[in-house]
Amino acid sequence: MRADEETEIVVPAGGPVRQWLRVASDGGPVDLGAVDPRSTPGLPAAAGDGKERKVWARRQVELIGAGLGRQQEMLFATAAAGAHASTPTRGGAGLGRGRPGRLLLVLQAMDCGGKDGTVKRVAGAMNPLGLHIRSFGPPTRQELRHDFLWRIRRALPPPGYVGVFNRSHYEDVLVARVDALVPERTWRSRYDQINAFERELVDGGVTVVKVMLHISPDEQARRLAQRLTDPTKHWKYQPSDLDSRARWDDYQAAYAEALGRCDTDAAPWFVVPADRKWYRDWAVAHLLREAFEGLDLGYPAAGFDVERELQRLSSGGGDS
Ligand code: AMP
Ligand code: MG
Repeated sequence: MRADEETEIVVPAGGPVRQWLRVASDGGPVDLGAVDPRSTPGLPAAAGDGKERKVWARRQVELIGAGLGRQQEMLFATAAAGAHASTPTRGGAGLGRGRPGRLLLVLQAMDCGGKDGTVKRVAGAMNPLGLHIRSFGPPTRQELRHDFLWRIRRALPPPGYVGVFNRSHYEDVLVARVDALVPERTWRSRYDQINAFERELVDGGVTVVKVMLHISPDEQARRLAQRLTDPTKHWKYQPSDLDSRARWDDYQAAYAEALGRCDTDAAPWFVVPADRKWYRDWAVAHLLREAFEGLDLGYPAAGFDVERELQRLSSGGGDS
């Protein structure tokens, strides 16, 4: 069968993608140097070789995407039914006694790491109606008057929604550290605050999937050059991108510590090798698929008598 004619989702041998990509941490800094940004952990042999793999992975992302769309609809429907029905909704263990769940994908990466592309390709497979996508730039003056988690709390997805954070509260231990926006004791104290915050989210029914898209400096240079040479990509470029690039090692050290300190069983960190866009999309799609599976979703039971409604419809459309 041709790679683009595959009709089934092929799962990796040797365990789910989350096991392949979970950071190896003991609380200390993660060894990011040990993860090759061009590698393809967990990619099944069915993907074939060479260029074929890209075609295969793109087709798999289509198939996984269709499933993500259905899962998202169930999540949305469960929350909607819970909001206006008195009957308990069918919810799995992951939802904690019928409380509608939420899913939050946190994306972090160096510039050109592929956050926007991942949102487009992977989140794009879901219904915009149930997506809650937020990007975080430098804090506004109003945001600076509050603690760093204030704007994050306000951006959380409502029950039933899939949230995507394009950058996140982790910037407050990354750029804030590298650019010395706050004193060291301030950003150091944030690791514990982040862990407590995420614990609270998880206890409140949010499934948190944290992904660092890991690119190499060479790949970043290629993508920056594309942004500079293609006028339709100038809008993606900021001169400050080169200043951040010059601090590459400092950023990697900041990532290494943030991932190590804030990788918890409640809210684990995944490092996705991201020099190959097709692998990146394939891996993130699987991570979301696996997270949804943990929610054990289904469509909610009707909060009304279906037979009676059908009878009313056939006997005059409810005019009586
Ligand atoms: P982009 O994602 O390319 O639109 O860039 C957003 C910019 O906002 C990046 O340079 C981030 O480092 C910056 N940024 C995001 N969050 C924060 C934060 N909490 N403090 C300072 N800068 C931030
Ligand atoms: Mg940028």
